Amino acid sequence: MSLATPELRIDDRVNDFVTRPSKLLIDGHWVEADSGKTFPTFNPATGEILAQVAEGENTDIDKAVQAARAAFDQGPWRRITTSERGKLIWKLADLLESHLEEFSQLETLDNGKPLTVARVADVPLAIDLFRYMAGWTTKLEGTTIPISVPFTPGAQYHAYTLREPVGVVGQIIPWNFPLLMAAWKLGPALAAGCTIVLKPAEQTPLSALRLGELICEAGFPDGVVNIVTGYGETAGAALAAHPQVDKVAFTGSTEVGKMILNAASHDLKKVSLELGGKSPNIVCHDADLDISIPGVASGIFFNHGQCCCAGSRLFIEKDIFDVVVEGVAEQAKNIHIGPGLDPTTDMGPLVSDEQQQRVLEYLAAGLSEGAETVVGGNKVGGQGYFVEPTVLVNTKPNMKVIKEEIFGPVVCAIPFQDIEEVIPAANDSIYGLASAVWTKDISKAHRIAAELRAGTVWINCYNIFDAALPFGGYKQSGWGREMGHAALELYTEVKSVCAKLS
Ligand code: ADP
Repeated sequence: MSLATPELRIDDRVNDFVTRPSKLLIDGHWVEADSGKTFPTFNPATGEILAQVAEGENTDIDKAVQAARAAFDQGPWRRITTSERGKLIWKLADLLESHLEEFSQLETLDNGKPLTVARVADVPLAIDLFRYMAGWTTKLEGTTIPISVPFTPGAQYHAYTLREPVGVVGQIIPWNFPLLMAAWKLGPALAAGCTIVLKPAEQTPLSALRLGELICEAGFPDGVVNIVTGYGETAGAALAAHPQVDKVAFTGSTEVGKMILNAASHDLKKVSLELGGKSPNIVCHDADLDISIPGVASGIFFNHGQCCCAGSRLFIEKDIFDVVVEGVAEQAKNIHIGPGLDPTTDMGPLVSDEQQQRVLEYLAAGLSEGAETVVGGNKVGGQGYFVEPTVLVNTKPNMKVIKEEIFGPVVCAIPFQDIEEVIPAANDSIYGLASAVWTKDISKAHRIAAELRAGTVWINCYNIFDAALPFGGYKQSGWGREMGHAALELYTEVKSVCAKLS
C-alpha cells in the first residue's frame, strides 16, 4: 500500500505504525483484544483501509478499568509528588512536539483533514494543552476556612479543604479532532491525579494509540493511562456503565451524550459532557466586511464543518445580506477540495461514508423544505468522502437544516432587521455551545455577548482556542467546561476537613 502523494513523503514511522496491527494499552502493556478481533480504520480521502485495530469489548474494558482502579488505589501514582506528576505531563508534551510531523500525518490519514492544518492547529494545540495542564499539578490548592458553628459556643476549630482526584475516569472521545480531544481529556485528568481508560472514536483511533506509546515512553506508571479501541455501542457503552469507574467524560453527539448519562445514572457516576451545537454567527451592518466575510466562512468551513462549535446559522443584517452572502459564496468557491496530504488542499474529505451520507441527506431535506442553494450542495465525484462547501438561503426557523446539527460544510444565511430581532432568533436553539458577533461597535458587541446563551462568544473572530480558555456548553450542548482551570473541576473532588482544637 502506498500512502504518499507525489508531493509528500510519508514519515517512515507513520508507514511503520499503520502497517503493524494496533493493540490495546492495558496496565502498561500492549495486548490483543480478548476476542482476537480487529476492525478496520479507513483513509477517508480514498475509502481504502488504512490500518487494522484491536476491537476492544466488554471484557477488555473491564481489564482496563481494573488496571486503572489498581493504579489509582494502590499504585505509585498517588504517592509521587505533584512536581513529578507535572514533569511527566511536560515530558509527554516534549515527546509529542518532537513527533509533530508524524502525528500531523497520522491525523490527516485517519481523519482526512489537511496536513497544513494538522501541523499548525491539532498537534500544537495538543502540545500546549499538556504544558498548560502540567503547570496545574502543583497549584491544586484547598483553602482554610474560618468557621463559627453556632451550636457549639466557645469551641474552636481548624477547618480547611483539600482538592483530590475524582478517581478512575472513563473518557470517550470523537473523531473530529482525534489527538486534540485526547489531550483535552487526558491533560486535566492526569494533572488532577486521576487514572484513565480512554476510548477513542472507531473512525480515528490511530493518533491516540501512537500517543499511548509516547505515554509509555514518558514513564507514566503502568495502569495510569489505558487505551481501549472499539465501537461505541460495545466498548463505549461498557465503559460508561462500569461500576468501578468514578467519572465519565464524553465528547460527541447530544444523542449519545444522553445515553452516556443513562448508563452512568445507575451508580450516579460524575459526568461531564461536551456535545453538539448549532452556533449563531451574527454579522452587523457596521462590521468590517474584509475581515468578517473570510471570518464567517472559516467559522463554518474549518475542519469541513465537523466542529461542534461550527458557525452554522449565519445571521446577517438586512442591508448587507446580499453582499455578505455573495462574499461567503465566493470564499466557498475558492476553497480547494482535495486529499489532506496535498499541500494545496484547503478542505479534505468528511471523515466517513456515513458522515458524507448524513450531510447529503440534510442538504436534500433543506431543499425539499424550500431552502435554496447559493453555492455547493453536492458530493464531489470519484473516490473519498468529499462534499462541497455549501451556502443555503431562504430557510425557515423550523427547517431541519436550521434546527439540527449537520456537522458538515453547510451554512444557512438568515437576514435580520435589528438587534432586538436577532438575539431571540440566535438563542432559538436547543444548543448553546458557541456564537460570534461581527461589528466595529465594541459596546454593541459586549451587549450582544451578554445576551447570547452560549458557552463561548467570539467577537470579530471565530474558532479561537487556547488551553487557558474554558470551553463548553449551555443547554443541550453539555455539562462542565474543558480547558482552563475550569477543567480541573471536572476531575477533582473537594474534601472539607474540620478539626476541633482542644
Ligand atoms: P458521531 O455521531 O459524530 O460519530 P458519536 O457521539 O456517535 O459521534 O461518537 C462519539 C464517541 O462516542 C465515539 O467514541 C463513539 O464510539 C462513542 N459512542 C457511540 N455510541 C456510544 C454509546 N452508546 N455508549 C458509549 N459511547 C458511545
